[in-house]
Amino acid sequence: MSAAYEASQAVLMSTYARSPVTFVSGDGCWLFDDQGKTYLDFLTGLAVVSVGHGNRRVAKAVAEQMERLVHVSNLYTTEPMVILAQRLIGLSGLDRVFFSNDGATANEAAIKLARRYAQNRYGAQRFRVVSLLDSFHGRTLATLAATGQPARQARFQPLPPGFTQVPAEDVDALRAVIDETVAAVILETTQAEGGVWPLSEDYLAQVRTLCDEKGALLIIDDIQAGMGRTGTWFSWQSLGVSPDIATSAKALANGLPIGACIAKGEVADAFLPGDHGSTFGGNPVVCVAALAVLDEIEDRQLLKNCRERSLQLSGGLELIKGVKQVRGRGLLLAAQLGGNYSTQVASRALELGLIVNPVRPDAIRLTPPLTLSEQEALVGLALLEEAIGDA
Ligand SMILES: *Cc1c(COP(=O)(O)O)cnc(C)c1O
Repeated sequence: MSAAYEASQAVLMSTYARSPVTFVSGDGCWLFDDQGKTYLDFLTGLAVVSVGHGNRRVAKAVAEQMERLVHVSNLYTTEPMVILAQRLIGLSGLDRVFFSNDGATANEAAIKLARRYAQNRYGAQRFRVVSLLDSFHGRTLATLAATGQPARQARFQPLPPGFTQVPAEDVDALRAVIDETVAAVILETTQAEGGVWPLSEDYLAQVRTLCDEKGALLIIDDIQAGMGRTGTWFSWQSLGVSPDIATSAKALANGLPIGACIAKGEVADAFLPGDHGSTFGGNPVVCVAALAVLDEIEDRQLLKNCRERSLQLSGGLELIKGVKQVRGRGLLLAAQLGGNYSTQVASRALELGLIVNPVRPDAIRLTPPLTLSEQEALVGLALLEEAIGDA
């Protein structure tokens, strides 16, 4: 056990049950700890380090920008945030961007924007936000109110009012709650933290139609599934729907904190000066990191690699004894186990040198870098097979 891990127990708040490992460096899909041990990273810090650890292009862009200009605030324009906004608009088909610091603040911006738009257009009664059970939208009070996990919500009452949850894949349940008080529906196309549950294209299409009929906006929380993770730039682009507002964060700057709320022009125009803001949002250092990530995905054809490795990994997982089902999209996958022993599998995998996440008591989540090679995928599959066999 490392000294840093032991020291952490006394000085950090106990919000995480941390593994007793201390990483000191990384290279591509690999991590190295303070004992000199090597690990294959099939977690990427929760779907964040998509273009790999120690990425040279990102490091160089950040180092150069650090020397040029770090921060001036949003009272002024800086070039990287404008170029990044233009790139995200081009890739998403949406029209305007607000930059925040992480996922929760991107969703906060989306919820505030939806309320602002709906109240301008329909009046003060239209403020409710409908989300799905087993969703995850963040840990601020409003995004926790949108997160469909009653156990997490129970400990922090009272939460802000105006949030309702319905079961996923149940159009009638949604229809029953969407009325003239609903400003927006927010959902993830694959419910990631909830256990990696992909929503069907049919359900997504019906949600889109219902929103249009009732005048509610559709917000797609693409924080985990976006930025190439499911094989397209944004997750909805292979699913036949598109949102009025989308949020992005996790992989956008490969580990530097950034969030983006991207909206259709008519909706985005509801925000006026003073309505919303952020001290750090769109800071030039994180924006050049994000631009380097987009260049890496493009130049190294990582969307294609994501789709190919996805087929390879899901095919391989299905052959592992003890894996009952494989689900997910792209490189956002889960292996369903036959019982509640995913923590044992993850601990054994860690000992063997493979990092995976026990997303549910009976399921393991795999979110390797999009740069994963065919050979590395084989190594990961072999280690996971051994870990499941031993656990
Ligand atoms: C991680 C996540 C968030 C919250 O992002 P933070 O950066 O941790 O605030 C919100 N929505 C989804 C779908 C996520 O995966």
